Amino acid sequence: MRKLIDENGLRVDGRRVDELRPIKIEVGVLKNANGSASIELGKNKIIAAVYGPKEVHPKHMARPDRSLLRCRYHMSPFSTETRKSPAPSRREVEISKVIREALEPALILEDYPRTAIDVYIEVLQADGGSRVASITAASTALADAGINMRDLVTGCAVGKVDGQIVLDLNDIEDKEGEVDMPIAIMLNLNQITLFQLEGILTPEEFKKAFEMALEGCKKIYQIQREALIKKYFGSSEPIPVE
Ligand code: ADP
Repeated sequence: MRKLIDENGLRVDGRRVDELRPIKIEVGVLKNANGSASIELGKNKIIAAVYGPKEVHPKHMARPDRSLLRCRYHMSPFSTETRKSPAPSRREVEISKVIREALEPALILEDYPRTAIDVYIEVLQADGGSRVASITAASTALADAGINMRDLVTGCAVGKVDGQIVLDLNDIEDKEGEVDMPIAIMLNLNQITLFQLEGILTPEEFKKAFEMALEGCKKIYQIQREALIKKYFGSSEPIPVE
């Protein structure tokens, strides 16, 4: 097994253990969707598009008291090292479900009875942590679509690599590391909406990992917020929160 953290404490891509990859979020990148956002997190390139609230097809799926949220996470055939089949895999079906569950608490679906809100996520390039980056992009796209929301949802993964807790795992760390723990949170409401843990952590490691993920989410949230402000107010200067 290759070493994933060198003697200077630097990771395979030169980052410190608590460092995020470069991140860029853009809002309103698609003209035909009601809301959209793109995210680049390291080598991940992901686009989220939102349609709705709109009429539900098939009609019997409509809910009389709320909107129906549907999510599709899809990886393009060229998004991985070896060509991925374009057909939805079990992994994509599962990730679509956890993304829907991570976004749903943030949306005031009761405001749109008998309608559907569709969220399409296309992973153009995957590099580890694509589900959390997708959640961040999708919640930004939902805000862009003007859907009533309680808060934005921000995702970030932490893990354990070479015995150390590290923030924002890349593809190699995800595959060769010991632990992967993706989380998503509504920071203003202080509520977790996604929590997954692959591997084993001691209670002390868990506490450290969780705090690191929270710090990562706070940084990503600022970028998410600035991207929305940039589109709607034409400036990337953050507007102070009261
Ligand atoms: P996440 O992207 O949320 O970390 P996983 O932990 O399941 O989700 O996947 C980790 C990484 O493995 C992905 O980001 C991607 O780079 C890679 N990967 C996932 N599915 C495939 C696939 N079918 N072929 C090649 N690489 C894949």
